[in-house]
Amino acid sequence: MNYSYQPVKPSSQNWGSHIWPPFTQIASSIPPQKVIAGENALLIRDNDEPPIIDAISSWWVTLHGHANTYIANAIANQAKKLEQVIFADFTHPQAEELAKRLSALTGLERLFFSDNGSTAVEVALKIACQFWHNKNEPRKQLIAFEGAYHGDTFGAMAVGERNLFNKPFDEMLFPVQRVPWPATWWDDTSVEAREQKAISQLEKLLEEPTIAVILEPLVQGAGGMAMVREEFLKKVEKVVRQSQALLIADEVMTGFGRCGNLFASHRAKISPDLISLSKGLTSGFLPMGVTMVREEIFESFIGNDPNLTFWHGHSFTANPLGCAAGNASLDLLEGNPLAYEGLESRHLPHLKKLANHPKVTKPRLVGTIAAFNIEVEGAGGYLNSAGKALKQYALQHNVFIRPLGNVVYLLPPLCIDDSQLEKCYSTISNGLEIV
Ligand SMILES: *Cc1c(COP(=O)(O)O)cnc(C)c1O
Repeated sequence: MNYSYQPVKPSSQNWGSHIWPPFTQIASSIPPQKVIAGENALLIRDNDEPPIIDAISSWWVTLHGHANTYIANAIANQAKKLEQVIFADFTHPQAEELAKRLSALTGLERLFFSDNGSTAVEVALKIACQFWHNKNEPRKQLIAFEGAYHGDTFGAMAVGERNLFNKPFDEMLFPVQRVPWPATWWDDTSVEAREQKAISQLEKLLEEPTIAVILEPLVQGAGGMAMVREEFLKKVEKVVRQSQALLIADEVMTGFGRCGNLFASHRAKISPDLISLSKGLTSGFLPMGVTMVREEIFESFIGNDPNLTFWHGHSFTANPLGCAAGNASLDLLEGNPLAYEGLESRHLPHLKKLANHPKVTKPRLVGTIAAFNIEVEGAGGYLNSAGKALKQYALQHNVFIRPLGNVVYLLPPLCIDDSQLEKCYSTISNGLEIV
């Protein structure tokens, strides 16, 4: 196939006259594909073109595959019984079941419902902050990691890396202290020194009374699939425990099997005080977020003084359809743990082979997530065009990837079959020849 990368002609009409898409510069975007159906790992287009392999689970949400009938039926059945009820005065069986199951699985007793990953993070930050207020020990300092991404609402932006994406708001974001993230890859020889440096900086910052330390366990997602060792997280936890600060794990991406265990915290053997979950929670069927909280924190919000109350809620809190999808998704996860436990060893031979390619650097793999950097000339970073060119090439070969700058990754639905996975890797390998 004759291929050359063509920058798209600036146009405000690529998306028609009414839609404003997320995270997209319209002027330089490739016109969108029209999708009319999904089936397991495949997206079906509205013309005779072949289906596209969704190699990134539609922004990391599609866990068991598109249009999974078991989950679809659970939602349909629930919709015929109860679609929604105000959750401040009522409860319902799907919410109770989901809360019970997630408490048992995470080891954190209380569940607070919200609508997406950003709100699950906002809720964690607000609970952590108010916890110290309620104990009459108000604190100011929050600590996050360089390169972090925690969402797009103001609080979530504040704890995230300050960059191009939140520049217009920089002055309006509350201050957050930052520690380097000692990301690692295969055959990395300097990781221990970098980890030590990060731990020392964290120790120093924690001399100041601190509300919480927030991190994405094992993998920073949007920050470039930047993976750290389990040992590092163990050390972070130890230092945080010595200081009394709370530990918040943002498992919005890493939760529900993505890192090979049900939760990345489990794999790293750390016990956070709060865990934010979303994305895979409903297997990508419905928007929902939850924040899991240690009972002792919850207890500090109980009392006759109205000031103790967590005055936070969303219209769709604990939406029964979302809860039904969550419970059905958990059924599937628990019914077949091999689906998430086994994906790492399915990636492994492919990534090993790709790692020999001269343009591939820093190969890395954890659970269902495989990533590498394209060795490119000129500046790296999100706006580097090599990733864009590879994305366009892959799409022409019916594989959907969405590199983060020069970071290429696969994060497929658990149901991806061997030949589809093989096709993702061979397409990337061929595409590297033209970038
Ligand atoms: C995607 C993501 C978020 C934000 O979730 P949304 O549902 O997009 O608001 C927060 N944290 C992490 C780690 C994420 O990957």
